[in-house]
Amino acid sequence: MSESLEFPCRLHIAGGWVNAASGRTLSILNPADHGEVASVPCGGADEASAAVAAATQALPGWRATPAPARGDCLRRLHDLLIAHREPLASLLTLEQGKPLPQARAEVDYAASFYLWYAEEARRICGFTIPHREAGKTAMVEYQPVGVIAAITPWNFPLAMGAKKIAAALAAGCTAVWKPSEETPLMALATAWLAARAGLPAGVLNVVFGDAAAIGERWMEEAAVLALSFTGSTRTGLLLLRQAAATLKRVQLELGGNAPFIVLEDADLDLASEDFMKLKFLVSGQVCVTANRLLVQRRIEEEFTHRLTERLRALRIGPGLEEGVEVGPLINEAGVKKVESLVEDACRSGARLLYSADLPPALDRSCFYPPTLLAGVNQNQRIAREEIFGPVVAMQAFASEEEALTRANDTEYGLAAYVYSRDVERATELARRIEAGIVGVNDPRPLRAEVPFGGIKMSGFGREGGREGLMEFLECRVIGVRRAPRAK
Ligand code: ADP
Repeated sequence: MSESLEFPCRLHIAGGWVNAASGRTLSILNPADHGEVASVPCGGADEASAAVAAATQALPGWRATPAPARGDCLRRLHDLLIAHREPLASLLTLEQGKPLPQARAEVDYAASFYLWYAEEARRICGFTIPHREAGKTAMVEYQPVGVIAAITPWNFPLAMGAKKIAAALAAGCTAVWKPSEETPLMALATAWLAARAGLPAGVLNVVFGDAAAIGERWMEEAAVLALSFTGSTRTGLLLLRQAAATLKRVQLELGGNAPFIVLEDADLDLASEDFMKLKFLVSGQVCVTANRLLVQRRIEEEFTHRLTERLRALRIGPGLEEGVEVGPLINEAGVKKVESLVEDACRSGARLLYSADLPPALDRSCFYPPTLLAGVNQNQRIAREEIFGPVVAMQAFASEEEALTRANDTEYGLAAYVYSRDVERATELARRIEAGIVGVNDPRPLRAEVPFGGIKMSGFGREGGREGLMEFLECRVIGVRRAPRAK
């Protein structure tokens, strides 16, 4: 049975639902037709500070709550997310645009982080170190960092928050969370359900509106001890510079440029099916998506044939429509950016092998047709920047060494994929790729229990797994002398 969602469309601070002091509002638009889904307050620096004050006040109580009780609260939040899967998924599709089955999958994926960290909270264990002097012991303990700030993007509005918030709350931290202004409703829904799960007021606060003013204020506040950010490399670098002044702990998950390598001995049915699953998830607007498709020359023709067949079968439309697999892009600027990358590639030698016909009823400023380009080269913008759209940018390579050189020829290092029937060979190649996560015959290696994050300009720090929890824990040592010196 699905339950309804009745959260107020306002900022969530200290357990209350508030408007912005400025009285300004923002319209949340449906990416499929640009119609208004909701009107929400547009917060700024004042609301950012109020949220930090609330989180600071709630910190002593939450950090003193026994870890198993914190875990129980996260488990109840998991259960409530699952119980509200249908209304959450519909709203997620309305504000983000992704097809409904993908929205349902995101609810489950987000919930899995609350469950996993509910369990992990119980296992925040310290240890003792035998001292070299008799009678002395060093006790190592893990304590919550304090108030943390989370800033998240619009492609997975529920799950990106879950990765950060679940780990932070499990650790005993309190949080201020700024979701993207494109998609703030999932954060509000999370806060509303969290209150129903028994989370005390002020432990989780949600503010959005003037992103630059909120971010700057949080980075200035000495009470904010850590930042967990997912978004563009440009914004990540700015926040890193701002965070330096008060020496915050920073974890950054930034852009990617993942290669998807198909070796000549790959199972081409599996590789093409998995490639489509990965590439067309959220219409290609995913940081770990296959940005570059590298196919060994001997199988290029065969692989292209299989891909084109699959592309032709894709159903494009508004995400709430039955059977739709490819939804709109997040906004008009997103569509324009993809258009410009494809035009640039075609002007500089790429071949347009396929471009879907958009159904006439669709608004062309919202949708980009699934497209296949061949003959892409490494110097084109489409091979260097994140496409963030339903465009396959394929290049052929002759040898495994050439594939490796090209895979690593990018400033990013987030994800990569290798397909081959020879798992040992593929795994060896995977080890030489500069990326935080590599899928070998696996398009979706990310899970709540798996540490995920990038290297190079894709950032540092990890989300998920034990490592994701450690981002929000400080190690403290208490050295004890048990036997006082005889007088
Ligand atoms: P994208 O291009 O994917 O939208 P952004 O880095 O612009 O990536 O956005 C990711 C998150 O960062 C969003 O929540 C956005 O509002 C926020 N953001 C953007 N600019 C700033 C800024 N100057 N300070 C703080 N947060 C920002």
